[in-house]
Amino acid sequence: LSKRIIAKNNDDETGRLIATLNDLLDRLEEAFSREKRFTSDASHELRTPIAIIRAHAEENLKEGRSVEECQHALKIIQKQTDYMSHLVGQLLLLARSDTKQLSIEKENLNLTELIEIVVEEMQELALRKNIDIAMDIEDDLAIYGDQSMLTQLLINFLDNAIKYTPSGGNVYIRAKAQNNQIEIEIKDTGIGISKEDQAYIFDRFYRVDKSRSRASGGSGLGLSICQWIIKLHKGNIEIESEVNQGSTFTIFLPQSR
Ligand code: ADP
Repeated sequence: LSKRIIAKNNDDETGRLIATLNDLLDRLEEAFSREKRFTSDASHELRTPIAIIRAHAEENLKEGRSVEECQHALKIIQKQTDYMSHLVGQLLLLARSDTKQLSIEKENLNLTELIEIVVEEMQELALRKNIDIAMDIEDDLAIYGDQSMLTQLLINFLDNAIKYTPSGGNVYIRAKAQNNQIEIEIKDTGIGISKEDQAYIFDRFYRVDKSRSRASGGSGLGLSICQWIIKLHKGNIEIESEVNQGSTFTIFLPQSR
């Protein structure tokens, strides 16, 4: 596929046609290699939990294992199974987003209520790390969007904020309407993200620290799903972060009236 057609004269009709064809070839080639990388990354991600499950199953099928040892192994197996099922769900979502098979169901929503419900659900997780989620949300923020996707979006950002903030830290969520846009800010006092890494965190499977992310059930797919949801809602995202100081993600979505 990497063969290029060479035009005799770049300025005439044929030359321009050839240039367009070459451009098309480039794009096809890039799409193929992206697809290949995605499949190989996905297989790799699934292979790790399978290997862990297998090792624990084999070890504990041997004679003489105590009940405690078996129970410990079963807990690990359960955790890995949960992770795999979460990962497969994310992969399916992304695959459907690629083929545009996903139906998006937009309706008029009260974003204020949606945020309050999600924060309430995430409090338990935060509490386990002694993290406080502080809220400053304007009343009756109206948005035209897909409820389950926006819920997923908020969960992903809050989950990351909690995951990448050490115990005792703080997470803030603020939302307001400004210039026909809704601004949602999710801020944490966590480990932060370096400038170099900021360029890649929305890429599929990209994780700054693989072992840290995996230990907390991360797959590196959350932010690419978020970016896609934001795009489907014709929004934008900005990030500000300082290593060891914390991160602020600001999502801009069109306000509905
Ligand atoms: P993961 O499942 O690994 O959390 P994401 O796609 O949600 O995957 O995020 C990609 C990477 O971006 C994470 O692995 C982490 O390194 C970094 N990251 C995301 N959110 C934060 C945050 N609030 N603070 C620090 N790092 C973050």
